Amino acid sequence: MDGKALAERLRGEVTREIAALGHVGLATVLVGDDPASDVYIRLKQRAATEAGIDARDIRLDASTSEDEVLALVHDLNDDAEIDGILVQLPLPSQIDETRVTYAVAPHKDVDGFHPVNAGNLYRGTPLHVPATPAGCMALLAEYGVDPKGKNAVVIGRSEIVGRPAAMLLLQAHATVTICHSRTADLAAEVRRADIVVAAVGVPGIVTADMVKPGAAVLDVGLTRTEEGIRGDVDPAVADVAGLLTPMPGGTGPMTIALLLESAVKAARYRRGLLAYPTL
Ligand code: NAP
Repeated sequence: MDGKALAERLRGEVTREIAALGHVGLATVLVGDDPASDVYIRLKQRAATEAGIDARDIRLDASTSEDEVLALVHDLNDDAEIDGILVQLPLPSQIDETRVTYAVAPHKDVDGFHPVNAGNLYRGTPLHVPATPAGCMALLAEYGVDPKGKNAVVIGRSEIVGRPAAMLLLQAHATVTICHSRTADLAAEVRRADIVVAAVGVPGIVTADMVKPGAAVLDVGLTRTEEGIRGDVDPAVADVAGLLTPMPGGTGPMTIALLLESAVKAARYRRGLLAYPTL
């Protein structure tokens, strides 16, 4: 499943939508100098700018207090130029991530992490949805994989990837199993899956003997090693799977594309072109 190609197409569509809307404002907030976060922010900023988004790149010192971050978020909530807000996680230890996540106005929460957005996904009425699992669903759709009636196994239960991926698959009528570090027999669970989403961060944890022949496998996990970037899925899975995302070039580019879609959605919510229940 060529995430790079699909992401490029989606970004083209988003660029046209932004031109039609006239102005879309996105603020990204990075606290501290975590190198991985810096890379993600730069990728997001560049993609947003290329799509015609008015992208504000806010950088704060690692020693910034929680109150200062909360004050900034409140200002962005009230800022008429800003449609979407993204606070890059993780935050330095003196800042409570939950408090910051709750502070972002739900309709501007392009990451979909606010409980109002997470709750609506849980209810089956999605509003803003986390970009990585949304990208997985878009890849399945692009490659003609309808989750309805299929067994889907999601490995990982984080709020960012695993849980929302499971909810989206459930909403698409898959029979969903969520695996995690306490799962007794991961191989047995994965073997039953027609769709596998691996979001762990352990290189090669999904091996070829665990995969049902013909299954669609989405590799989300991303680990930087001395040999380069490694996914959760062992490359030999390509011989067994019907469809597989490459790493890199699969779920990563899709995450960026779906984030841009979220920014457009946020602009539509603010203009009343789409209904957001709390607006
Ligand atoms: P996370 O919060 O660390 O969650 C990892 C999950 O994997 C946890 O639920 C954990 O279980 C589970 N796990 C750990 N060891 C396991 C094992 N041996 N067997 C089964 N499950 C195990 O990470 P995350 O934020 O969800 O991210 C997951 C991976 O995706 C990371 O590598 C991250 O870099 C990558 N990522 C990629 C993209 C992309 O665009 N491709 C986007 C976001 C994240 P417990 O809950 O029991 O601890």
